[in-house]
Amino acid sequence: MEGLPTRIQLVEVAPRDGLQVEARALDTETKLDLLTRLADAGHTVIETTSFVSPKAVPQLADAEDLLRALKRRAGVRYPVLVPNERGLERALSVGVDEIAVFASASESYSHKNLNRSRADALAGYTPVVRRAKDARLRVRGYLSMVIADPWDGPTAAATVVDCCRQLIDMGCDDLSLGDTSGVGTAAEVDTLLTALAEGGVERTRVAMHFHDTYGQALTNVLAAMRRGITTFDASTGGIGGSPFARMAGGNLATEDLLWLCRGSGIATGVDLDRIVETSHWLGEELAHELPAHTARALRDRAPER
Ligand code: MG
Repeated sequence: MEGLPTRIQLVEVAPRDGLQVEARALDTETKLDLLTRLADAGHTVIETTSFVSPKAVPQLADAEDLLRALKRRAGVRYPVLVPNERGLERALSVGVDEIAVFASASESYSHKNLNRSRADALAGYTPVVRRAKDARLRVRGYLSMVIADPWDGPTAAATVVDCCRQLIDMGCDDLSLGDTSGVGTAAEVDTLLTALAEGGVERTRVAMHFHDTYGQALTNVLAAMRRGITTFDASTGGIGGSPFARMAGGNLATEDLLWLCRGSGIATGVDLDRIVETSHWLGEELAHELPAHTARALRDRAPER
């Protein structure tokens, strides 16, 4: 199909962005099992956990234990979320080599998620990123609510461009732009990515992070691919929303993205069957049905035993 890449890079976010909203806490062993399964499936970038306050996100309170126990595999990157300098200290103490910081393009979500204004949050990351770069870590800058914010309404593309420039200027290597509430549509994604290109934000630095609240995630992926984006965040099972925006639907499911890619001749290096198997297993561990379409479709088609 014209305008589509031949290969994309997936960033698997289920162990962090996915699990953080789950009610049932998984123990460290089960999380290690999840990380092993995701690497076995062929993932090369797996967002592993978060060094936010254990009080804010109890599900990820075992971040140090998890990282200490994790047998890191050659060729696989294990980024972790770091909210501030204290989080960076904790991450450095267990030898991470890649972090992500988390800003918002909208004012209200910044206050709700980070308890600070957008400008203060971005300014607060400057010393964190500088220190991380001094320690030779790779740094990803997340930016959420890039299409619209449930409280503020549409996010101006110029604001997103400005935030992206700030994140790059402070030293972020890559950006992940999130339609965190999942309201975006293909035309809006196209408009945003056009503005980013015109604003000088290199597309090779940009990943897109879609949520499937309105069933638009894959359509938005296609729109982004046609604007030259080749890195996409996805979550096995489609788990994840936002603990601070309950109306947000799940993340784009890894298996749904893989189904699109397999049918469209786009290489990912990730094995669909293994992800589907992991999705079924994860649903049992979390004790509820996960939102991914493809895992459900393939399960229901399976012969009865
Ligand atoms: Mg997400």
